[in-house]
Amino acid sequence: LSAAARHLLDRLTDEGVEFLRLQFTDILGATKNVEVPRSQFEKALRGDVTFDGSAVEGFTRVEESDMLLAPDLSTFLIYPPFSAEDHEGGRVARLICDVTLPDGTPFGGDPRRVLRQQVERAAALGFEMLVGTEPEFFLFERPVPGSGGRQGTVTHDRAGYFDLAPVDRGERIRREITQHLVGMGFEIEAAHHEVAPGQHEIDFRYAPALEAADRLATFKFVVKRVALEHGLLASFLPKPIAGVSGSGMHCHLSLTRGGENAFADAGAEDGLSPTARQFIAGLLEHAGGMAAITNPLVNSYKRLVPGFEAPVNVAWSTGNRSALIRIPAKRGASTRAEVRMPDPSCNPYLALAVMLAAGLDGIERGLEPPPAIARNIFRMTVREKRHHRVRDLPGDLREAVDELERDEVLAAALGEHVMDRYVTAKRAEWAEYNAAVHAWELERYLELI
Ligand code: GLU
Ligand code: MG
Ligand code: MG
Repeated sequence: LSAAARHLLDRLTDEGVEFLRLQFTDILGATKNVEVPRSQFEKALRGDVTFDGSAVEGFTRVEESDMLLAPDLSTFLIYPPFSAEDHEGGRVARLICDVTLPDGTPFGGDPRRVLRQQVERAAALGFEMLVGTEPEFFLFERPVPGSGGRQGTVTHDRAGYFDLAPVDRGERIRREITQHLVGMGFEIEAAHHEVAPGQHEIDFRYAPALEAADRLATFKFVVKRVALEHGLLASFLPKPIAGVSGSGMHCHLSLTRGGENAFADAGAEDGLSPTARQFIAGLLEHAGGMAAITNPLVNSYKRLVPGFEAPVNVAWSTGNRSALIRIPAKRGASTRAEVRMPDPSCNPYLALAVMLAAGLDGIERGLEPPPAIARNIFRMTVREKRHHRVRDLPGDLREAVDELERDEVLAAALGEHVMDRYVTAKRAEWAEYNAAVHAWELERYLELI
């Protein structure tokens, strides 16, 4: 055991931890964990716990199924008790792990490794990417147990944007979620009710990319868990209800170099450095393929429609919220690009990896973005859009996957293993959706035709 691992082993004893969860994320973004009891702690910290990789979505073929979990000690945290009985058998802690093959070599299908590789690519160019995320989600009533009722989309309140209690029943729950997250060492900047009834948002302070992705994975688990304790369902589905706002996950991206914000340039008219412009140009150039990762569900594309503050076009703007990328007003150390496309159903590791890869490609090739759009793009005519070189985002998951397959930069960033499994899974998802007969079709046609 390394000195750090030995130190952590002592700490586990001192803190009365009885169960250790070894966590990782599969290619489609589901958090997985193997829980080990105290007797196995030393083995776990040595990185000797194996699991059957063939049982995990997108991981491996049966004949190469043994995988090892190598814990990243910097991710250690002790879970708070989510209910009165939660820690009765002893406290529960977790470590996020890298996945390796039995001989210790990193596994190509590990999303965390995909992100780490882009982080290292940025570092080789002298950059570090900082990420502040704004995930949104809905809280829904659960069916009465034993009633045989199915989970529906009845929201737990009727409040709206920034509303205050007592209208906002979610306030208590949101505060509890925030308290847990803060207790776990997360820096939360704000939490508020969103536009739609039952919709909430929690904003994270910026962190280095890998840490931001780790936090998102944990965040989703905590939100779901706390909601359940209150008899509610928390859902990160991008568009659970037609006709009202969907849930996005804006990502505020910036690069630093030698501790300084590399996007800021006080001398430039718009306050943006050439690096910022190139990074933005790269994001715009790869937006279509990126969507397959940042907006991964059939349902994701029902959010990307006009009228709900979600982007529909590939464009950037210094103020307008209809654009894919908005540059918030603050400059200097706070200079950043808000990417408004991603939704919270994405795999956070892969999403940040493709965004970073796209931006770095812009820098490496010295790309120049088209002029920033000041007007509301939703109100532009087709001709005006063409004039301003504004492209449409993919209209559905199939288009997005087609674009991803054509994008060599993103394919290289994801690596062969992830790319292959991801595209196969998404094509199957699309085929299944396409073959289903939806409620809308029956409502629209059944009696009429
Ligand atoms: N809910 C909006 C979306 O789908 C974002 C609203 C906002 O926070 O500006 O992206
Ligand atoms: Mg919001
Ligand atoms: Mg925002």
